[in-house]
Amino acid sequence: MKTLRVGVIGTGGIGRAHAERLTKYIANADVVAVNDINETAAKATAEACGARYEADPIALIHAEDVDAVLIASWDRTHEQFVCETIEAGKFVFCEKPLSNTADGCRHVIEVEQKAGKRLLTVGFMRRYDKGYQQMREVIASGRLGEVLMVHAQHRNAAPTGEKHTTVMSVSGALVHEFDITRFLLDDEYVSAQMILPRSTRNADEDLIDPQMVMLRTKKGIHIDLEIYMNCRYGYDIQCEVVGEEGTVRLPELANIAPMRVDGTRQHKIYTEWYKRFEDAYVYELRDWVDSALEGKAAGASAWDGYVTSAVAEKCTEARLSDSVVKFDLGERPAMYRTTEV
Ligand code: NAP
Repeated sequence: MKTLRVGVIGTGGIGRAHAERLTKYIANADVVAVNDINETAAKATAEACGARYEADPIALIHAEDVDAVLIASWDRTHEQFVCETIEAGKFVFCEKPLSNTADGCRHVIEVEQKAGKRLLTVGFMRRYDKGYQQMREVIASGRLGEVLMVHAQHRNAAPTGEKHTTVMSVSGALVHEFDITRFLLDDEYVSAQMILPRSTRNADEDLIDPQMVMLRTKKGIHIDLEIYMNCRYGYDIQCEVVGEEGTVRLPELANIAPMRVDGTRQHKIYTEWYKRFEDAYVYELRDWVDSALEGKAAGASAWDGYVTSAVAEKCTEARLSDSVVKFDLGERPAMYRTTEV
């Protein structure tokens, strides 16, 4: 069996978890080298995965024993590491967001166009979640008639990783919703508006929380998205698609058993984001590895990364101008016209 030798950059919350998933659950992947600006964190992950510690991320990308690179460092580092890996001709998996800016994503697209083939996968793992996949099938089957509206909520108990600001809630977290909704609908966004409810006292001072985003698609579908980073009670992801003939809803609690006890019907709620989508993370990494070994890039592309970051920027523009911002995302290059997952 062929094996993909992976170098990992960034071993905080998700980087370490991805390195361990590759090691434990994905037989045809080996984590061989690990880098993080935090040497202690990198060495701990390297030891857990039987890999070597590499002090220089650029050396890791170019190392002869590294076939492909997984990037899970801070958002603002992604563009540089992704471009370096593509220029080295290697497959790269980059956690979302691809870049903090639409321009940064466009730069990645240019670099990949020059490389002449898709090498990048962006870590929009919800595409691999069985619930969203069922929703997509129902919508595509036409049983709902034409889709009219989507209502979705993204609630975190509290922010994790980098300190969250008003912009980052949208550009770092809500991008998941931007990606999965267009994946469900097979449609593209044309306008954005933001509504700011009263902010919770639990948010840091530079974070307005919650925020509401309204999007409209080319087909005229209305999408309302709530992002609430300090809801306190748990990690809660909801999505309902409303059509002319019916609705379809994301199964709420994958892998959680409901109880009837003490005169009540009850169930736990996820409190950690990584548990809610654990299966999807494993499926996306497996697909990335299998595809790379076949010489292909799986999952969300640089174009998908660009769309989500561009929409995040338009949301900020809409918030600052307190208006509906209309936009045109431009033409999708031929390389990105097929969506397999
Ligand atoms: P985190 O816990 O802060 O981890 C990021 C790690 O990257 C930290 O160890 C940080 O070092 C390190 N780092 C920062 N700059 C670096 C550089 N130049 N070179 C090498 N390492 C560097 O954050 P996280 O929650 O794991 O998030 C990491 C990325 O994954 C972010 O882009 C985030 O948006 C994304 N993410 C995706 C999902 C998802 O569901 N797909 C979920 C969570 C996060 P320090 O220890 O010094 O800070």
